[in-house]
Amino acid sequence: MTTAKDSASVNKASAGASRSKANSKASSKAKADAETLSTKLSNAADITASSHAEPCEPCDSLSASLARHIRYGLCRDEHEKHELFNAVAHSVKEQMLDSWRQTRIKDNQYQQKQVAYLSLEFLMGRALGNALLSLDITADAQQVLSDYATNLEDLEQVEQDAGLGNGGLGRLAACFLDSCASLDLPVTGYGIRYQYGMFAQKIVDGYQVERPDRWLRHGNPWEVRIANRIVSVPFFGHTETYLDKRGHRHHVWAETQNVLAVPYDMPIPGFKNGRINTLRLWKAEANDEFDLDEFNEGDYAEAVATKNLAEQITMVLYPNDASVNGKELRLRQQYFLSSASLQDLLARYVSQFGEDFSQFNEHNVLQLNDTHPSIAVPELMRLLLDQYGLSWDAAWAITSQSMAYTNHTLLPEALERWSVPMMKNMLPRIVEIIFEINARYLEQVAHHWPGDIQKLANMSIIEEGPEQHIRMAYLAIVACFSVNGVAGLHTQLLKEGLFKDFYQLWPHKFNNKTNGVTPRRWLAYCNPKLSSLICRRLGDEWINDLSRLTALNAFTSDKAFVKEWAQIKFENKQALTAFVKQQCGVEFDPLMMFDVQVKRIHEYKRQLLNILHVIHLYRRILNGDTQDMVPRCVLIGGKAAPGYAMAKQIIKLANNVAHMVNSDPLVSPLLRMAFLPNYNVSAMEKICPGTDLSEQISTAGKEASGTGNMKFMMNGALTIGTLDGANIEMLEEVGYENFFLFGLDAKQVTQARIDYQPQHIIEHSKALNRVMSMLKSGHFNLVEPGIFDDIIASVLDSNDQWMTAADFDSYCLAQEQVAKTYLDQDSWQKISIRNTAASGRFSSDNTIAGYRDEIWMKK
Ligand SMILES: *Cc1c(COP(=O)(O)O)cnc(C)c1O
Repeated sequence: MTTAKDSASVNKASAGASRSKANSKASSKAKADAETLSTKLSNAADITASSHAEPCEPCDSLSASLARHIRYGLCRDEHEKHELFNAVAHSVKEQMLDSWRQTRIKDNQYQQKQVAYLSLEFLMGRALGNALLSLDITADAQQVLSDYATNLEDLEQVEQDAGLGNGGLGRLAACFLDSCASLDLPVTGYGIRYQYGMFAQKIVDGYQVERPDRWLRHGNPWEVRIANRIVSVPFFGHTETYLDKRGHRHHVWAETQNVLAVPYDMPIPGFKNGRINTLRLWKAEANDEFDLDEFNEGDYAEAVATKNLAEQITMVLYPNDASVNGKELRLRQQYFLSSASLQDLLARYVSQFGEDFSQFNEHNVLQLNDTHPSIAVPELMRLLLDQYGLSWDAAWAITSQSMAYTNHTLLPEALERWSVPMMKNMLPRIVEIIFEINARYLEQVAHHWPGDIQKLANMSIIEEGPEQHIRMAYLAIVACFSVNGVAGLHTQLLKEGLFKDFYQLWPHKFNNKTNGVTPRRWLAYCNPKLSSLICRRLGDEWINDLSRLTALNAFTSDKAFVKEWAQIKFENKQALTAFVKQQCGVEFDPLMMFDVQVKRIHEYKRQLLNILHVIHLYRRILNGDTQDMVPRCVLIGGKAAPGYAMAKQIIKLANNVAHMVNSDPLVSPLLRMAFLPNYNVSAMEKICPGTDLSEQISTAGKEASGTGNMKFMMNGALTIGTLDGANIEMLEEVGYENFFLFGLDAKQVTQARIDYQPQHIIEHSKALNRVMSMLKSGHFNLVEPGIFDDIIASVLDSNDQWMTAADFDSYCLAQEQVAKTYLDQDSWQKISIRNTAASGRFSSDNTIAGYRDEIWMKK
């Protein structure tokens, strides 16, 4: 892949100078100087402009602003729905611009430490409803829209989800941004402005079909392109060294191919507090330079066409959740994000403090969301060493005290390793720096374990083999001052297992930060009826302080309250019924129990266990064994990574079982099932308020935290779950009597795997035996023989990592307990209230307060 060569600077005046090949030391140095200067100038302009801010006229009211956008923005009398939406969004954004600017001016003074949250994913969903809630202008907007014969709810559905993430990890980043702004913290999110976000999922003949997510098709009214903060990111080329007059060795990364990183800012409003933080998303653009050789040879079109290759970097989000994609383009994305964000951070710092970096750590901290942006470690070293001329020790002191790393998974298939030859070709200077970091760090290992050669090999950042690989998690642990897991069990397993050696070396680095979700989006906004009931009884302080929900426990004996609680759940189920009908064509009945599992499709999450239970119920109904059975509607939804064959088969099985269940009129009074296509944030906003039973049934020890579990709990769903991830902490909060626990715990899973014989388990379980026989008989794939053979084999496999057979009976027993409880509606509703009441700990405000006090601002 080639791009425009050698134009390191974005400054037009210096671009000409940088055209010449940077072979000579002198010209490289001149180039670097010009670059630094141009950055300084553009930053000076940026800062000057903002500090001269005059107090401005009060901005137009929402109503006046919307009238203006419709009159002058649309330029005609008839408009499409999305045009009206865009006009409304522009008007709402206008309401934020002054506060956004004030926030920026204040933060540029560095009175507080600035936090950069680096993430390859931000699963933001829709912004309109959330912005109105945060700015406290929902009622205003409803009023204004009535003048245009539109209602707000309908208009909100027009907005495309910003689906710049796969699942939990990306949604966590979005919840964190909301909490940071709401806690008045100066936190900037740095990410990638993917042209195509998470693919749209369609179901055709029961199979997943991926469609491109053209979320920017109608423009993005929330974003602002910031032309004066463009930076240039180098790729390829080679490295050189030279000695300066004083005999100091300098490194040059020469003949690079540079790609422009253009920032697009999105406002992140705090909840009714006037702070507007920024999510800065980078877009790759080709540099205006043409390859003059090609150009002069008459290949004008070719010269222009190669420019598109640069723009490929931010074209598409990789749709892998909890598994790596080792493609070269993915590494390019990671470096592009890391380099652009660090250059931005440094330029901002230098414009305030000059090139004295002694204060850098006092004023800056970076949080790495998984290892995806961990190449920021050697990149910060490079910028400090090569660009700003710091010594190795000075650069390392800054780097190792400014970065913190969050681990998100124990699954080996999700641990990033990059091929050294590939990285050497793409990022030669970065590889040199990583090897130097490794050499110095291994000395420490050798001191700690003298003579232990195996330890050195095990802990090396470089994995040896036919091809060398860089272990990105080790790089992150070595360089970062903090390493955190995302739930108590997860952090404990990191310390005891995956990172045991590192924990022994540096116990002080390790800490836990249990995930959370924002109560603004996941209760106040998505469940207005419940929210209003809670406000009438408790006031509205819970929206900022979710621990106040414990006061709901007092109302479990208030008959009128319980009745209203149940009525609201029923109405939310009616709304979900309509949604399921519209999306799947399946008729749910809100009088039945709604049993829901929505999340990425992955074997460890065990959607298969859920489907086997549905088959079990179906079998029972066919046998007339329906005593104590509660009528249920089972909903499963989620996307499979396009290359994950087993996950795709599980989707097909869910659809085929649903078809058989729903097409038998004898079954449907007791059991219905649907697979919901295209599960995303805006779908979850409709699903969790209308759910009775939340399925959190992963194999113990495999789900790092889970956050879907928390959204359901907040909205009064009861959970059936294993002792995994944050389920354990949810159980602690709500108590065993209000949670349906089943299955092996993490220790037992490890034990049971030693001599695991699923065939034996199946022989001894009447229920599982019947279910497996029915599956094997081809009852669910009469016209497609053999399509579920892999699934059947996986359950029977003594190497089945996910232990589906091992937990089946225990799961069915817990489900019977669920049914029994549901039959006593009064008791069910009380437990529902207790679940919401106990969900306060899982506000992401709580999580972020932990990051603030124990990582970011820790003295
Ligand atoms: C919350 C959420 C997730 C995470 O769900 P888990 O059950 O924790 O895996 C994934 N996708 C979307 C759209 C979400 O809203």
